[in-house]
Amino acid sequence: MKEFDLIRVLAARTKPMEGLQQGIGDDAAVLEPGRFDLVTVDTMVEGVHFRRAWSTPRDIGWKLIAVNLSDIAAMGGAPGPYFLALSVGDSLCEADILALIDGMQEATAALVPEGFETGLAGGDTTRSPGPSVLTLTLLGESPPNGAIRRSGARPGDRIVLIGDLGWAAAGLALLDSGLPPEAWPSGAQHLVAAHRRPHAQVLQGALLGLHGLASALIDVSDGCVHDLRHLLEGSHVGARLNTAHIPVPDALRATSRALGVSLWDWVLAGGDDYALLATVSPEHMGQLWQLAREYDFTIS
Ligand code: ADP
Ligand code: MG
Repeated sequence: MKEFDLIRVLAARTKPMEGLQQGIGDDAAVLEPGRFDLVTVDTMVEGVHFRRAWSTPRDIGWKLIAVNLSDIAAMGGAPGPYFLALSVGDSLCEADILALIDGMQEATAALVPEGFETGLAGGDTTRSPGPSVLTLTLLGESPPNGAIRRSGARPGDRIVLIGDLGWAAAGLALLDSGLPPEAWPSGAQHLVAAHRRPHAQVLQGALLGLHGLASALIDVSDGCVHDLRHLLEGSHVGARLNTAHIPVPDALRATSRALGVSLWDWVLAGGDDYALLATVSPEHMGQLWQLAREYDFTIS
């Protein structure tokens, strides 16, 4: 497929972002002035961030969207238009590219709740002589009182986890182990799904921002302890983590026993979880519990 055809097909397969003055189709996109003030970029390189053997192109498209959504959520923001730079290597055929686009669409539909406006608004398409490289730029909108930085944590704040820790790392370890799916511990397919199709806490991040409940916020992409350290360094504070409060599902325990790997390696140091870690002052905790009940998400 020629580049021009690809762009046409791509635009036709994608639900356009609404509310843009100009999306795909001109030399540049035209946005509403003054609306989107957050920008995040994530790149996935074949052989580094994904392997064709473990992930389908649909999964890869999903993940590209999820990781960027997670970054905007981690600022307390709402996602907006995104831009896809696609460098297509030999191992991605036409059908793969279409599947990748479909995976992006599926992730957007599944992870972005009603009421948010997000979608593909442009990009660039080239050939790569080596591995495929996918770069997504996602814009977002800060909450009215400003984005939540890593630097606002104060002594006495509680550390709140929204999402799951260790699942994705355990899922990847299972795939790497070569254990056939029939021999996986019960429930382990959820761990593998967490690796292939991570969830981003889009609504939760935006709610924290809107209600001004978190003093600092970060998403866990490189492992809980690693990312918590970034937050602590940014805020010049220390922390005590009570691991007894981190939920550990049976499937994770069973997988840890089956592979002979310490559970805490995955929970505390495993990557690709895309949970949120927030610091919250004790007087805001009540309101946060109430929001969690109202919008049906778990915090720990
Ligand atoms: P130019 O040569 O002027 O950069 P392109 O042919 O690269 O123009 O792009 C034409 C239009 O198609 C632009 O609106 C651009 O944003 C869009 N586009 C190109 N590649 C992609 C892509 N991978 N995803 C989304 N939009 C794309
Ligand atoms: Mg171009």
